[in-house]
Amino acid sequence: MTVQEKKVISFHYTLTGSGGEELDSTRDREPMSYLHGAGNIIPGLENAMLGRSEGDCFEVTVSPEEAYGVRNEANIQRIPLKHLGKIQRPKPGQVLRLHTQQGPVQVTVIKVGRFNIDVDANHPLAGQELSFEVEITEVRDASDEELSHGHAHGAGGHDHG
Ligand code: ZN
Repeated sequence: MTVQEKKVISFHYTLTGSGGEELDSTRDREPMSYLHGAGNIIPGLENAMLGRSEGDCFEVTVSPEEAYGVRNEANIQRIPLKHLGKIQRPKPGQVLRLHTQQGPVQVTVIKVGRFNIDVDANHPLAGQELSFEVEITEVRDASDEELSHGHAHGAGGHDHG
């Protein structure tokens, strides 16, 4: 069975950043599962999966445009501390979840002043070229439920808790 639309793919990966540093790996946990063609994973990785089979191992390098996007300087914003509500004196590097008119947004604190903080809403991996070392552990048909939800269920997939 090969990777194509309406299949659920389970795979192990090790993710390496452009500086050669390991950023994430599934090697010490369950493989990740996704529904192919549903945009569950970054486009560059999903495209590289197409046509592969169970047991295949490969490496792929993905440009920022095909991963988490390029950095947008407009995503760096200054916010009055008093707008943060219950969050007390955040520190640089801290990740906060802010509630905006567009819904919740995850931001990284860059600088904390007396009255304002500067936050970066870019994805932490935005602007980075990423390398994945992949091993496909399973390719199976998606269930009707998975197809209607648009994601994989079970170990390594979407958990409805
Ligand atoms: Zn679901």
